[in-house]
Amino acid sequence: MKNFTYQRAASIEQARNAAAQAGAMLLAGGTTLLDLAKCGVADPATVVDITHLQGLDAIAFDGSGVTIGSLAKMGAVAADRGIRDRYTAVSEALWQAASAQLRNMATIGGNLMQRTRCPYFRDPAAFPACNKRRPGSGCAAIGGATRNHAVLGTSQSCIATNPGDLAVALVALDAEIELGSRRIAADDFFLLPGATPQREHAIEPGEIITAIRIPASRAAGNSTYLKVRDRQSYEFAAASAAVGMELEADGLTVRDIRVALGGVATKPWRAREVEAALKGKKLSREGIDRAAALATEGAVVHGDNHYKIALAPRVVARAIINLKLRGIA
Ligand code: FAD
Ligand code: SF4
Repeated sequence: MKNFTYQRAASIEQARNAAAQAGAMLLAGGTTLLDLAKCGVADPATVVDITHLQGLDAIAFDGSGVTIGSLAKMGAVAADRGIRDRYTAVSEALWQAASAQLRNMATIGGNLMQRTRCPYFRDPAAFPACNKRRPGSGCAAIGGATRNHAVLGTSQSCIATNPGDLAVALVALDAEIELGSRRIAADDFFLLPGATPQREHAIEPGEIITAIRIPASRAAGNSTYLKVRDRQSYEFAAASAAVGMELEADGLTVRDIRVALGGVATKPWRAREVEAALKGKKLSREGIDRAAALATEGAVVHGDNHYKIALAPRVVARAIINLKLRGIA
């Protein structure tokens, strides 16, 4: 562990100023920051403690949506009755993320800012080549073991998967990330790797996430998050899907549908082709399967991750069927 300066921010303004310094990193729940510092990936010159800032942990509902403060704990948001009833996919995504201990500690803002779980990224001593960690150094994953790497949104520089669960639900439900004076669509907040994989989020030095805004919709109220993984708890997604759906009065015709994928792409992946194929159509098993197959169109295999191309459409189809079977859509 290297030496660093500790600053306890007394206000959001102080936190912003401190975060603008070169080498500064915010400390919220600490569950990612400490992990990355221990494995030698994060090396902050200054740790800016925002854990105790007042007013950033509220969950506030109004007529047009909900605003969740960035310091709200994952567990508190998952358990909130209003979130469970009106933004079900968000609650379900959080319940299936990490462990109870982590959810009690970790914050919503920190969750969105978590880094990839690419094993090469997290082991600098064994794998010096990582464009995300050291731009221009190469990518140890390409040509290596890649069971959990991405099949969508990859580039020649990086094929790492975005590991978050909450982010997938937020992208599906058209949420926005509040960065103080500006708001950005969740879909635009997460960046494709392109030639600059070191930059994962559209956040500038000195900006902090203050809140998440999720607009109310019938699709949000009738939503679900399905996560498939190697074991049933405490594991990242092999493939996941957040689906929100509104049906016409006949209970079969799709008026509105939102679909996003997790565990298979370099960012939470909005599957607009799947949505377009189902909107205005009557639901049928064949129609759902045909539409879900579009989820991985254009996917690129890198060795061991080929199974994700077959798995992701099945997860999407199962999530849609689960919603329909719940009888709330
Ligand atoms: P911190 O560690 O405090 O911060 C993380 C990063 O975010 C830091 O870079 C920090 O500077 C920055 N940051 C924090 N708050 C803000 C803010 N308000 N504005 C701007 N930047 C900020 N996640 C899943 O989604 N699904 C899982 O299945 C899952 N499993 C896990 C299993 C393990 C063993 C571990 C350790 C983690 C797992 N996680 C999983 C990740 C976990 O959810 C994150 O570690 C946690 O959400 C991070 O939140 P935090 O408040 O602890 O962030
Ligand atoms: Fe680094 Fe990305 Fe390659 Fe993993 S996939 S080693 S994060 S450049």
